[in-house]
Amino acid sequence: MSARPSLNLYDLTRDELCRQFERWGFSRVHAERLWNYLYLQLADSFSPDTMPELPAKVRTRLTAEASLGILPTALETDSSDGFTRKYLLSLQDGERIETVLMRFTGRVTACISSQVGCAMGCVFCATGQMGYTRHLTPGEIVAQAVHVARQLRLQSQSSSKPRTQSSKLRPHQDDMAPPRLRNVVLMGMGEPLHNYDAVMRAADILRDPNGLAIAAERITLSTVGVVPGILRLAEEKRPLHLAVSLHAATQAERSALVPAAKKWPLDELMAACRTYSETTGRRIFYEWTLIEGKNDTPDHARAVGTLLRGLPAQVNLIPLNPTSGYDGIPTRSEAAKTFQKILAEEFKLPSTVRQRRGIDIAAGCGQLAIAN
Ligand code: SF4
Repeated sequence: MSARPSLNLYDLTRDELCRQFERWGFSRVHAERLWNYLYLQLADSFSPDTMPELPAKVRTRLTAEASLGILPTALETDSSDGFTRKYLLSLQDGERIETVLMRFTGRVTACISSQVGCAMGCVFCATGQMGYTRHLTPGEIVAQAVHVARQLRLQSQSSSKPRTQSSKLRPHQDDMAPPRLRNVVLMGMGEPLHNYDAVMRAADILRDPNGLAIAAERITLSTVGVVPGILRLAEEKRPLHLAVSLHAATQAERSALVPAAKKWPLDELMAACRTYSETTGRRIFYEWTLIEGKNDTPDHARAVGTLLRGLPAQVNLIPLNPTSGYDGIPTRSEAAKTFQKILAEEFKLPSTVRQRRGIDIAAGCGQLAIAN
């Protein structure tokens, strides 16, 4: 098998693509055209049919030295309610990752991965249970968003056709989200701040107003609490949306659920969050996986309310999703409502209970993993 060209076009910002074209002796106009093909047309090949406005000599060079970095789909699965589709995507080295397309009323979200596996080992998370293999490259992160955007386009083009057994995902309807991808959450496999440079480069590419144009505030990074990464985000004043997985309000309880808390203790994490909010003026979303009897009692609600007092914060409550490696029980909806009521009434702290999506296909929060 011949080696694939080493230059992955999805690794490059628009500026870098233009400079690469200059090095090849091609005009910037052609680089801009290629960029449009990549991110507006969502092209899947260098063929003249797909990229008719590129001269043959440019296409020849691209074919020889660059790749589109498309991640082939090994498997796709639809949830029974038709709102979620999970893609198992193959990487060039044979590793695989999962990416999820979620439809909510009025919006579509791509949940993408930043690593193969994860080193953080959160006890209730299927990705943590599988361990860490490697970081994803910027191009592999971008390719997931492009994949979802392309799938949305294909689905909207075929939505007028009769639905088949193998195409259960709900088509675009008036009460449903339009087919353009507008939201990306880095909540798939991996800890994004453990792969900081690649994730930030990918975010820059996703945000490019002449490309996918995903607004910075619609790109959410979810971290388990990697303190140096939070401080770097603050220092660089990146306008991305930050979610911090808290899950417990004492060091002892938190480190039992999130081993990374031993490295970055709760007091250091909260100090970093305070610095982040003060420096950027941005509110942080604090995530709290609700596990019956472990962290869902009124006392736990008061503990998190006290911990977050005075911080610009919103709490996202996520009833535990089942995984084979953890025997915790999801909270009951009554306990979630009481938790929320205490946060609102006693601490004036806004919160939401996360809509559950894709649980039956293991595409919910903490469920993504590749079977060995
Ligand atoms: S919850 Fe996130 S940080 Fe924790 S193990 Fe899973 S993927 Fe890693």
